[in-house]
Amino acid sequence: MKANRRPQRHKDVLHGQGGHRANDFRCVGCRLDVSLDAPGTAHRNHCPNCLTSLHVDRRVPGDRAATCRGRMEALGISVRDAGEWTIIHQCLSCGELSSNRIAGDDNALVLARLALRPLRDNNIAHRMLIVL
Ligand SMILES: [Zn+2]
Ligand SMILES: [Zn+2]
Repeated sequence: MKANRRPQRHKDVLHGQGGHRANDFRCVGCRLDVSLDAPGTAHRNHCPNCLTSLHVDRRVPGDRAATCRGRMEALGISVRDAGEWTIIHQCLSCGELSSNRIAGDDNALVLARLALRPLRDNNIAHRMLIVL
């Protein structure tokens, strides 16, 4: 007799790797266990401590193109019209750039350092304009 019929959860199966909680990830930069619940954003996609991210694309539903999983390091800060700060990340494996909203508990010191750091590479600065 199979009276207990549990609803299937396909979503968890797709992302289920190694028994990690779905809402946590471990930072590849500083090994901090990071919760995805971030103040000020719907989805945290980088470490609040060192701002390192992973090259996986969660923002576009159904887009599985970005399975690179390379380490993405923060290159610089960009400020949008509304005064919204974004971090520019670049993947160390494939070189792809992306811009990400800053979360409310991101490390202010690291952010300030990034904002003050001039971009050494003009080519990257040019590509950033395309990303934004
Ligand atoms: Zn980190
Ligand atoms: Zn990549």
